[in-house]
Amino acid sequence: MELSDDMTPFEAVNYFFDRAANIDRLSDNACGVLSGTYRELRVQVPVRRDDGSVTVVYGYRVQHNGARGPYKGGIRYHPTADIEEVRALASLMTWKTALVGVPFGGAKGGIQVDPSQLSKAELERMTRRYTDQISHIIGPSRDIPAPDMNTNAQTMSWILDQYGRKYGHTTSIVTGKPVALGGSYGRDAATGRGCVFVMDEALQDVGIDPDGATVAIQGFGNVGSWAARLAADAGYRVIAVSDVEGGIHAPGGLDVPAVMSHARESGSVVGAPGTEPISNHELLELECDVLMPAALGEVITSTNADRVRARVVIEAANHPVTPVADQILADNQVLVVPDILANAGGVTVSYFEWVQNNQEIAWDEADVNSRLENRMRKAYQECRDFMTTYDEARTMREAAFALAVSRVVEAAELRGYL
Ligand code: NAD
Repeated sequence: MELSDDMTPFEAVNYFFDRAANIDRLSDNACGVLSGTYRELRVQVPVRRDDGSVTVVYGYRVQHNGARGPYKGGIRYHPTADIEEVRALASLMTWKTALVGVPFGGAKGGIQVDPSQLSKAELERMTRRYTDQISHIIGPSRDIPAPDMNTNAQTMSWILDQYGRKYGHTTSIVTGKPVALGGSYGRDAATGRGCVFVMDEALQDVGIDPDGATVAIQGFGNVGSWAARLAADAGYRVIAVSDVEGGIHAPGGLDVPAVMSHARESGSVVGAPGTEPISNHELLELECDVLMPAALGEVITSTNADRVRARVVIEAANHPVTPVADQILADNQVLVVPDILANAGGVTVSYFEWVQNNQEIAWDEADVNSRLENRMRKAYQECRDFMTTYDEARTMREAAFALAVSRVVEAAELRGYL
């Protein structure tokens, strides 16, 4: 396939899959199965508005591959969450779960909607309707949703409640629930925390001391804000963060707790005291040790990859770097820790939540965090070792995909799918 920024998100993920397939010397049969999705459901979701009118939106649930266990993946509410994006995100989940060794397949859900235009009551009605419409293909041993962009523990509570009305109370139908409904301690912070563990490992590899190393983070939602807070606690200097309204910069280091309270009060990081405004574009090109895109996909493209000045890119967001940009970053010796590794902390603790629910026990937070740390550091080291052992794996992304794909193929062959 011709490399270009115009590739759809699913084509881009499959470009990386094809590279892995070459490294793993996969058969044509395996490539045929794994480059497509198992099941795609599109549902119409009429939303009753507060004024009595009805707005029609469309939702999706895509199950990419279930060879290694029940399908698993978040639900996103966003105007760009169309079938191509949801397919791409579902396939990334297949590779992510395999890479960190949690016994799940890959899925994703989405509703193509701008949730900022809906009231809380409208969001609840939309979530409940969508849950009803996908309820026949989800289940605690079939497909387990979780939060993603613009969904959260409250959204999961509505899904749990709506599913329970039809099938009886089922704690493990979703992960990322509030603790009061069986959520895991540490789930909220897990994706950001996992990013910080792999950032530590990556900096060691490139010979930069984490203490005082500078970090710029795009996105200040669940993932970005936790990553910023935990990085600052660990001694990093977080010099810039941003959200959909714009970014802020403080070369001496941001006071992250102060930025968090400013964002809570005003709705945005912009205008936090003691900071200079910068745009989201400028943030990506800042002089820093680590750049962490933690918002949207496809933000580093052929047009700006050459201007990235970070030594390490941690892909906290899903598919933030297009394949062309990935090539440019590799040529410029930028170490990119790929999404399927960097942001796998969320699904790892989602797995812990599901295990705790199935056993009807709760682990304490320190226990969750240390299990997460072990898995993230181990996954990073496995990717790095693969990359140094096999010349064909030129980047950490190629190593991560090759490892993940080989694990999925093994399970699929054992089941007799291939
Ligand atoms: P979120 O909705 O909590 O936060 C998203 C953040 O991105 C917000 O700060 C928002 O203002 C910002 N944003 C939105 N549009 C933007 C734009 N155009 N420019 C700059 N910033 C923009 O979402 P999240 O859960 O933090 O997810 C962020 C990314 O991390 C997504 O790519 C998601 O798929 C990925 N991810 C999330 C999890 C998780 O556990 N939540 C797990 C793995 C991967």
